[in-house]
Order: sequence, then C-alpha cells, then structure tokens
Amino acid sequence: MIRSPLSDSPRRSAFGHLLRYPFGATIVVLLMRLLGTSIRRAVVVLACLLPLFLPPTCFAQDEPPPAPLPVYEFHSGFWLNLHHTLYRQARQQRNANSASTAADSGNAPMSNLSPAEQRSWSSAIAFYTKTYADKDLTVSLEMILIKNQLGDFETCEDLVGFKKKSCDAGLPAKLTEALAAAAPVYRAHLWKEHDRANRRWISAVAPLVRRNGVDLSHRLAEIYQTNWPKERIRVDVTSFASSTGAYTTLEPLRVTVSSADPRNQAAQALEVLFHEASHGIADGVQEAIFRECRQRDKPIPRDLWHALLFYTTGEVIRPLVLTPTDSNSAGSSGSASSNLAASGYVPYAVREGLYKRGWEDYLRVLTQYWQPYLDGNVSYDDAIAHMVSAL
Ligand SMILES: [Zn+2]
Repeated sequence: MIRSPLSDSPRRSAFGHLLRYPFGATIVVLLMRLLGTSIRRAVVVLACLLPLFLPPTCFAQDEPPPAPLPVYEFHSGFWLNLHHTLYRQARQQRNANSASTAADSGNAPMSNLSPAEQRSWSSAIAFYTKTYADKDLTVSLEMILIKNQLGDFETCEDLVGFKKKSCDAGLPAKLTEALAAAAPVYRAHLWKEHDRANRRWISAVAPLVRRNGVDLSHRLAEIYQTNWPKERIRVDVTSFASSTGAYTTLEPLRVTVSSADPRNQAAQALEVLFHEASHGIADGVQEAIFRECRQRDKPIPRDLWHALLFYTTGEVIRPLVLTPTDSNSAGSSGSASSNLAASGYVPYAVREGLYKRGWEDYLRVLTQYWQPYLDGNVSYDDAIAHMVSAL
C-alpha cells in the first residue's frame, strides 16, 4: 500500500485554513459545546502541568539542574497514548477483513487479559470502532480537540474530577466512560512498555535538539521569512501517531510523533521534528506559491509547498547529521548517527520515495531553483517565481 508522506498534507494543510473560516468556526463552536467547558478548564489545568524536561526538584548539591531543552517540550502522556492505542486497534478491527497496513503490523490486540479485562477492553474498542475509527486523527477537528484535551490532562488519574476537581476534562460522557474502562487494562498490560519506549525516544533525540535545535529553528524561520514560535513547541510522544508516523495540528501548534515508528528513529527523528514544526511556519511560502500561480494564471501545483518543506528540512538537517561529532555527543543515538555519517544522511523524502510518487517535477524545480535560494544566491521571490514558471 502506498503510504502518505510523513505528515499528510493536502488534507491536513486545509486544517490551518479551516480554523480561520466561518465553516471551521462553526465546527469549533459545535465541538466546544460538545466538549462542554473542557477547553477553558484545560487552560487552567495546563498551567499546573509539568513538562518532562522541566528540571526535577531534587539534585545532588554540586550538580546544577539540567537546562530545559530548547525549541521543544516533550511529553509522554498516559491518556493520549491510551486514546491512540484504542483508535489504532479500532481501525485494525474495522479493517480486519482487508489487508492491514505496514504501520498496523506488529500492533496486534492485547493478549493475556482476564475475562473481566477482556470485556472492558473490548467494549472500549467497540465504542472507538463505532465512533472514531472512520475519523482521521490529523484532520478531524473533533479528534484534534480530543487529542489536545487528553494531552493537557495527562497528569490526571481520572478525567471526571473524581480525585481532583480540576481534572474534570469535560469530554463527551461516552468517551470518558470508554477511557475509564480501558485505563486499568492499558495501565496493567501496555502503558509501561509504551512509556518506556517514549522516554527512550526522547532521551535519544534530546541531545540532538539541545545541540542543533536553536540554530535549526533560526535557519528555518529565516528561510521561510517568518518568526519561529516564541514558546517551546509541545511534542506528544506516543506509541502510535497516525499512519504517517507523525502529525502536526495548528492553533495551538502541536506535534505528535510515534516513538515506535521506524521512520522516526535516531538522527532521523530530528528531521521529523523540524519537518513537523515547519508546518507551523509554512503559511507564507504556501501563500507565495499560490500568489505566483494566480499571477501567471496557472493551476496551483498540488502539494508543491509540502514537497518544498520536505526538501528544505532535509537539506538543512543533512550537514548537521554529517558532522563527525555526532557519534560522540548524541547519547544513545550516537551509534546510529555515526552510521548515518559514514553512509551519508538521506533525507526523509528521498528515503521514503516521496519524490517517486508524482513529485519528480517538484524535485527537479526544487533542486534547480529553490536550492540556489537556500545557498544564498537568489532571492526568495525569484526562487518561487522560477519554480512556478518551470512547472
Ligand atoms: Zn508534512
């Protein structure tokens, strides 16, 4: 099966605009009603949450606390991981009679459950199959709001405020019920493994982010002629994160990335993070392409802007990953980085064959007209104009 790019774009790219137009606004209002007062509460609760990389409270006397990571704020949250696990298994069940996708293989439903656990888990899966399996995590506003809400309430033991009033997430009653039923089963059988893998992934990518994050963010903002977000970008690390392995939602800008997806490992994780975050600053380049097409009365090349994002992130990351010091300072990702350095880093779009699936012309114009801009030899406007006119 042909897989979508890292973060699927035509559909998801529409999301940023959707939120700004009346149609989207109506959906948001409806969903706000659906979710009750959850969003307002989320703001209150969010202030109480501690991201993973805030310094811990106790340190040996001579050891200074580690500085927080720049650019990103990583989370491995129980509720969001549970939600994605139920969603993934519900989709597997829905597709039981058709060929399963590569991303779904190796994620079989849980075994070794007691009869009571099996009943709880199955009823939660049945609810997800009926309610959410047909919705896309990356474009459905309902799924996006649920995802954000579960992220914000990650430290809560329950989602109804049973133990703590501020933990009433205001989610739809049946969803809350399904999550409450599935939570003890997930906690007993899968969560430890998922959380460990998430934290391992974070530990592997953290040194790369610490060393390169600020420079990369400045460079990408400069390329797209805009500002990088002032606040650190929240990254929810989950075992499963859509068929693309990672996705980004806007307003607020948040990245969700799978710790288990083979496309997101070691130094490649850095490219995934910066490609995803680039979605949050890509409006300008998208508009510039559209404007140029309108002026020339040409149809807008579908996903050219997304190919440009892939190309740019790959090219900006490539020299960093090739530096010999990677193998010494990248923590557990060191050996992988070293291997990449030895063999030459291959950007995601090349590695995953995206340019061979209808983007051949895009690669040609990007190499010919966008690369000179990245090299500082032509202006942004000229590069865009040349690309559009050559297609
Ligand atoms: Zn993307």
